[in-house]
Amino acid sequence: MYVKPQILTLQAYTPGKPSEVVMREYGLDKVVKLASNENPFGCSPKVFEELRNVVSKFAIYPDGATEEISKKLANFLNIQPDQLIFGSGADEVIQMISRALLTKEHNIVQASQTFSQYAHHAVIEGAEVRPVPLVKGVHDLDSMLAQVDANTKIVWICNPNNPTGTYIGSRKLVEFLEKVPSTTFVVVDEAYVEYVSASDFPDTISLLNKFENLIVLRTFSKAYGLASFRIGYGIGNSKLIQELNIARLPFNTSMLSQVAAIAALEDQVFIKNCVEQNKKGMEQYEEFFNSYGIEYYPSQANFIFVSLENSQEIFKDLESKGYIIRAFPNGIRITIGTAAENEGLILHLKPAL
Ligand code: PMP
Repeated sequence: MYVKPQILTLQAYTPGKPSEVVMREYGLDKVVKLASNENPFGCSPKVFEELRNVVSKFAIYPDGATEEISKKLANFLNIQPDQLIFGSGADEVIQMISRALLTKEHNIVQASQTFSQYAHHAVIEGAEVRPVPLVKGVHDLDSMLAQVDANTKIVWICNPNNPTGTYIGSRKLVEFLEKVPSTTFVVVDEAYVEYVSASDFPDTISLLNKFENLIVLRTFSKAYGLASFRIGYGIGNSKLIQELNIARLPFNTSMLSQVAAIAALEDQVFIKNCVEQNKKGMEQYEEFFNSYGIEYYPSQANFIFVSLENSQEIFKDLESKGYIIRAFPNGIRITIGTAAENEGLILHLKPAL
C-alpha cells in the first residue's frame, strides 16, 4: 500500500465521456453535451480579444499573488482584495480549505446528495463525513445543525445545491449561522449564483462582515463560460484567507485563466443575456415535464434534476442519440442548453418516458 488507507476507500473522479468519444462510439456527427452545467453560449467575446494580447507572456510565470484579478473582483464584489483566494477551479479551493483545516480528529457535515468533492477531500484528510439527507431536494439545516459537535470543522452548504438546483433562503441561512459555533467554518458554495433569481437568496457577501467563520465559493466555470481555464475563488475574512493561502500552490492559476476571468467579469452584459436565455431554457423543460406529470425540483441554477428510477437506461438511450446528460442512481440532471439543444433533447427524451 502506497497511499493513506482512507484514499483507497474512494474512487478517482471520472468525468463523463468526452463528446468526441461518444461520437466515435456511436458513429455520430454531432453530440450535444448537457452534463456538466457549462454555459452553452460559451464565454464573452472580450475574452478572445484579451487573450490575443498576452501571447508574448507564455514563458513567464503567472502572478501567483493574483494582484490584478483580486483588485478587479474585490471592486466588483465590494470587498477587500485580501478577502479573496483563487484556485484552479472552485474544486481546488475546496481542496485547499480541506487541506488547511481538516485533520483526522475532525468531522464535516454536509447534505446528501450534494457536490461530491466536499466528502472526497474530507476522506483524504482522514476526517469523518456526516451526510444529512435532503428534504424535498433542499438542505435540512436543522438536522445538519444537530450533527454539529465540538469536532465539526466544516459545514458545507451548496447553494443552489448541485444536483437538485434547490436553494436555502436568507432567513434560514442566517439563523443557521447564528447557531453554529464560531469554531466551525460554514462554507457556502455558490458556483451557480449568477443564475439565481430568487429574491430571498442570501446576500452572503454582506454576511461575511458579521460571521468570521463564513467562507463563500464561486467560479468562472459556469455562467462566465470559462470551465476549461480552471479558475474559481473563495471569499472570507482576510486573516483566514491568509492562512488558506499557505496551502495554495505557488502558481495555481495560469496567466491565461486570470486574463480570461478579468475580461469575462468585465462583460456583465454577456452574463445578463446568458442568464435570460437560461431562464427561457428552464421554462422549456418545466413545461415539458409538467405536461408529462413528471416531478422535478424547482431549480435556481442552470440545470434541472428529475427523480427517475431508470436513470441509467435513459442516460444510455440519450447517449446513443447524441445527447450526454448526467445520471445519478436516483435521477437525471440535465444542463440547460440553447433553445435548439433543449428542444432536441426533449424530443429524444419523450419516447423514453
Ligand atoms: N461547486 C459546485 C457546486 C459545482 O457544481 C462545481 C462544478 N461541477 C464546482 C464547485 C467546481 O467547479 P470548478 O472547479 O469548475 O470551478
